[in-house]
Amino acid sequence: MTLLVENIEDVRKSVAVARKAGKQIGLVPTMGALHKGHLSLVRRAAADGTFTVVSIFVNPTQFGPDEDIDRYPRPLEADLDVCRAEGVDLVFAPEPGEMFPGGFCTHVEVEGMGEVMCGALRPGHFRGVTTVVAKLFDIVQPDVAYFGRKDAQQGAIIRRMVADLDLPVAICMLPTVRDADGLATSSRNAHLAPEERCRALVLSRALKDAESMLRGGCTNADKIEQCVRKKVEQTEGVELQYVAVVDPDTLEPLQTVGEKVLVALAAMVGKTRLIDNVLLRDL
Ligand code: AMP
Repeated sequence: MTLLVENIEDVRKSVAVARKAGKQIGLVPTMGALHKGHLSLVRRAAADGTFTVVSIFVNPTQFGPDEDIDRYPRPLEADLDVCRAEGVDLVFAPEPGEMFPGGFCTHVEVEGMGEVMCGALRPGHFRGVTTVVAKLFDIVQPDVAYFGRKDAQQGAIIRRMVADLDLPVAICMLPTVRDADGLATSSRNAHLAPEERCRALVLSRALKDAESMLRGGCTNADKIEQCVRKKVEQTEGVELQYVAVVDPDTLEPLQTVGEKVLVALAAMVGKTRLIDNVLLRDL
C-alpha cells in the first residue's frame, strides 16, 4: 500500500516505523509529472530493498520570477497511480507552506558550482534546490537518495553538499532515460508541440556527435564545444543557452579532456527550456 502524506511529522512517524522494522530508507526527490526517468530511480530504490519514499514537490524557491512555475505540470492523481503501481511505500506531497512556512529564511548554498552553467542563467536556482534537498534529507533521513544524471549539475552540487556537510546519506546517480528517438524524458516535454519535439532532437544528436569525437580520441574541449554549438545553432526554433565541457565532479571547464568529462547544454525550444548532457569516463 502507498501512503500519501502531506505533513512532515507524519513522514517522520512512518519512516521511524519502517526503520524499526529493519528497513533501509530510500528517497527519490521529484517535482512530479512522473515519467520513465523518474521510474528508473523508483525501481532502483525498490530493487535495493528500501522503504521507498517519493517526494513530489514543485519547489517554488528554485524558480526565478520569470520562469515556468505556473505552467509546470502537476498531475498528482496520475502520479499517485504510478506510485501505487510501482509499490512505492510513501509519497510525500507537501503544500509549499509545509516546507516554507512564514518567516523561513535559512538557505543552503554550494558556492561557485551553483553559479555556472544553468546557475548563470537561473540565479538562485541551485540555492533553492540544495535548500529543499537538505530539508528533505532531514525530514526523511534516507540511507540512500536517488538522482538522475540528466540533471548532472544538480547531482554534482548535491554530492558536494553531502560531502561538505557530512550528511549521512549515500547518493546514487542513475543514467539518463531517453525516448526511442534520443530525446531525454522530462516533465517539460509535455509542453512541446509536435514540431518543437522534432527540433529538440538536435540536442541529443549534437551530444552524440560530441561523444563520437571523444571516443575518436579528440581531447580538445574547445573543438567539442564548437561542434555541439554549431549543430544546435543551425536548427531553427532552437535557441542555445550554453554548452559546457567540464569536469563532472567540480564543474570546472576543461581545456584538455582527460579521463572523465561532462558535456552539458541548455536550450530553449519555443517557450520550453530543455537540458541534456553526456558523461564520459575512462574513455
Ligand atoms: P524532476 O522531477 O525533474 O525534478 O526530477 C527528479 C529526479 O528525476 C532528478 O533526480 C532528475 O535527475 C531525475 N530525472 C529526470 N529526468 C530524468 C531522465 N530522463 N532520466 C533519468 N533521471 C531523470
